[in-house]
Amino acid sequence: MKQVRRERPVYPRVFCCIPGCKRSTTRIAPPCESVICGSCWRRAPKHLRDYYSRFSRRLTIARKRNSDRVALLEHVVDQAFRRVWKALLEQPLGDDIPTLMREQLRKDGLL
Ligand SMILES: [Zn+2]
Repeated sequence: MKQVRRERPVYPRVFCCIPGCKRSTTRIAPPCESVICGSCWRRAPKHLRDYYSRFSRRLTIARKRNSDRVALLEHVVDQAFRRVWKALLEQPLGDDIPTLMREQLRKDGLL
């Protein structure tokens, strides 16, 4: 049996919108211009991530059903994304290191 290899489309490179993070992707279709990479996403508060994913799922379902709530849900999902983004901007990179480990890293001169 011949295996069919599915080609994944490649789009223009989009960088993670968190300052200091250098990750990027070519898997997101335009017009998307801002993305939060997986490792930054996991640093965001869980309740904000859950809120985003709950309404993102509702938006996907609404689009499939051609519902008239699509525009409203798009707005809610956009606001939820911005809340995650703001939370990450207030928490600079490296802030997720536990206090004891941070102290040890400082003693060793690594921080
Ligand atoms: Zn990132």
